[in-house]
Amino acid sequence: MRTALTTYACDWVNALVAFVYPEVCQLCGAARATPAQCYVCGACRAAIRFIEPPFCSRCGLPVSGEITHAFECANCRDMRWQFVSARSAVVAREEVLELLHRYKYGRAFWFEPLLAGFLVQCARRELRSEDWDWIVPVPLYPARQREREFNQAERLAKWLSAATGIPLITRCLRRVLPTPTQTLLSREQRLANVRKAFALDARARELQACRIVLVDDVFTTGATTGACASVLRSGGSGDVCVWTVARGI
Ligand SMILES: [Zn+2]
Ligand SMILES: [Zn+2]
Repeated sequence: MRTALTTYACDWVNALVAFVYPEVCQLCGAARATPAQCYVCGACRAAIRFIEPPFCSRCGLPVSGEITHAFECANCRDMRWQFVSARSAVVAREEVLELLHRYKYGRAFWFEPLLAGFLVQCARRELRSEDWDWIVPVPLYPARQREREFNQAERLAKWLSAATGIPLITRCLRRVLPTPTQTLLSREQRLANVRKAFALDARARELQACRIVLVDDVFTTGATTGACASVLRSGGSGDVCVWTVARGI
């Protein structure tokens, strides 16, 4: 039973929370946005672009034009990716990158339902209509995970697992080399960096001949997810597909 004192304390806490986090959109700082809206207003959400066909059947790169048949882009024909497909929910533009950045580096967990929601909304139907055995998040290097205290790919993968019923498995794919921040590197440099960064653990026995959904927050050049898919496939897994929240285009 609530006493007058606890009611007073709750009111006080709510007032403090509202003071620290006013109900204002954290992207534009102008419109109202409630905690239930993850502090992102309707106008800012409307600026977020979902990825729609036509896109490369392998890497999911959207292209303009009236293409109705399945096709692979020139880059994919060169790359010989070990994943069967890579798909993303939204375009990695300014607003989305800002949300992801603050989520990852600023622990802005209130954005998580929104970001995971994009992924679930786009991936659920496709994954349910196919036959996948495990969801595997792209791992962080242990020292980086200790410093950040969480792996965003793993947290997003949990949402996808809950929405699809496909079980999540962690600690089978490991990051064995730290890779520096990749944003400023060329494609060739990124590929060289990540090629040897991943390895399988004893637990990866579970993945033998299994079809795997690899999950990450962003697909940029495909170097990271491509390297993970190669390691999984050479360890004896079945097909690997990739799902990310956002994709650079
Ligand atoms: Zn806004
Ligand atoms: Zn492609």
